Amino acid sequence: MTTLGHLINGVRVDREGRTQDIYNPSIGEVAGQVSLASKATVEEAVAAAQAAFPAWRDTPPLKRARVMFRFKQLLEENAGEIARLIGEEHGKIVHDAQGELARGIENVEYACGAPELLKGEHSKNTGPGIDSWSEFQPLGVVAGITPFNFPAMVPLWMYPMAIACGNTFVLKPSERDPSSALFIAELAMEAGLPAGVLNVVNGDKEAVDTLLDDPRVQAVSFVGSTPIAEYIYSRASANGKRCQALGGAKNHAIVMPDADMDNVVSSLNGAAFGSSGERCMALSVAVTVGDEAADALIAKMQEQMASLKVGPFHDAGNDFGPVITQAHREKVCGYIDSAEQQGATIVVDGRGVQVAGHENGFYVGGTLIDHVTPEMTCYQEEIFGPVLLVMRVDTMQEAMRLIDDHEYGNGTCIYTRDGEAARYFSDRIQVGMVGINVPLPVPVSYHSFGGWKRSLFGDLSAYGPDGVRFYTKRKTVTQRWPSAGVREGAQFSFPS
Ligand code: NAD
Repeated sequence: MTTLGHLINGVRVDREGRTQDIYNPSIGEVAGQVSLASKATVEEAVAAAQAAFPAWRDTPPLKRARVMFRFKQLLEENAGEIARLIGEEHGKIVHDAQGELARGIENVEYACGAPELLKGEHSKNTGPGIDSWSEFQPLGVVAGITPFNFPAMVPLWMYPMAIACGNTFVLKPSERDPSSALFIAELAMEAGLPAGVLNVVNGDKEAVDTLLDDPRVQAVSFVGSTPIAEYIYSRASANGKRCQALGGAKNHAIVMPDADMDNVVSSLNGAAFGSSGERCMALSVAVTVGDEAADALIAKMQEQMASLKVGPFHDAGNDFGPVITQAHREKVCGYIDSAEQQGATIVVDGRGVQVAGHENGFYVGGTLIDHVTPEMTCYQEEIFGPVLLVMRVDTMQEAMRLIDDHEYGNGTCIYTRDGEAARYFSDRIQVGMVGINVPLPVPVSYHSFGGWKRSLFGDLSAYGPDGVRFYTKRKTVTQRWPSAGVREGAQFSFPS
């Protein structure tokens, strides 16, 4: 059985020490092992990044962008293998993995524009013979810590832009499905990154804490669950680092009485159950306005869910695959149990699903729960499984209050034909990413991705224009070349 190591200073390295099993969740068996980096191994990666920084910072942005162009091409050429690696360790169906990669490649494309994005601002004659400009300089060594659910895309939210801006990078991918991130980083090296510019350390808390505490690491980008995001943000900030930490979610869709119910049902199906609901933008709560909308939604969902196909990642005929681990499977089923015990109605029950020939896989079938109320555990917490809750309210205001009162504020959506209602909703709702008849409003790479409330700790969102801001610091230079005409004597009042 192979053990996945690290990528440090341009070469794959293996180190003796702790390891962890990697599962193939479609069959429920161990597929390999991953090394868990020690403090010393992480420090070696940080040292490599630190050593590579001066030359990389001074490399012209256009040359850095050319590496990104080649990287994009290599990602496209290797898309099949990357999707297979994602599917094998994560469990998502191959076409879903290809979609994830495509969204990751968008970020490489945006990073190709670094020379334009780093141009800065210039003002001539801010005073007699004085010019001023602001430029955007790289920070130095930057770290990225990423979750299991988008093992290829989330790292690509981070390092292409960080590196194109002139930083060097240490990535710590999820230890549960680390292979695609390592494979992709090797493609980035093949595209022409000098040794040490991009390093990957596999590991767990020990590796993460080392990155948070190392004074050579200037900034940390994190994506994962809210308790860990909060911890990362507090510890990195206390150590004087710039930090953005994206956390969990509970994404509501409001279904208005005038909505096109066929569109609602088909798009909710994909957005709630796609990737087994293991998406931070998955729609996990449908809030129906009026009993008529609720009854119509439940009836049509029940009908469509009867044909949902759950099974192994490599069968393109499946709609979604297993969840990530057996422990997570039990956790998701536990939430369904709690909903039942607390008085909700289980309309479609995915707990007992069996996939022929893959009996040990970590499968949960699509689950629909009606009559959910705000105090129920299944509503309070992020389930991160193929479970859709239905909450019945009487007015749009009531639906919006529910969303605003929830601790998370990642994504939301309204289904309606009423433009005035949609505009009111998108203007007032306390959520960072809003869809109008769009179930998964994941911004394209030239906008930025970020939730509100406890879905994001930090001031700047991920990727897009905020990514450029996050990975650079502004320096403002004021210049005068004294000449006879403008030379002045000493001035003791504040310059104006
Ligand atoms: P997680 O928080 O368990 O792990 C994320 C990363 O943190 C991993 O690299 C892991 O090794 C590390 N980590 C875990 N425990 C740690 C600890 N105690 N100390 C230091 N580091 C630790 O998240 P996950 O289960 O891999 O991913 C799923 C979660 O991520 C969900 O909550 C989902 O909503 C969230 N997510 C959010 C976004 C977003 O953009 N807001 C995107 C994707 C996933």
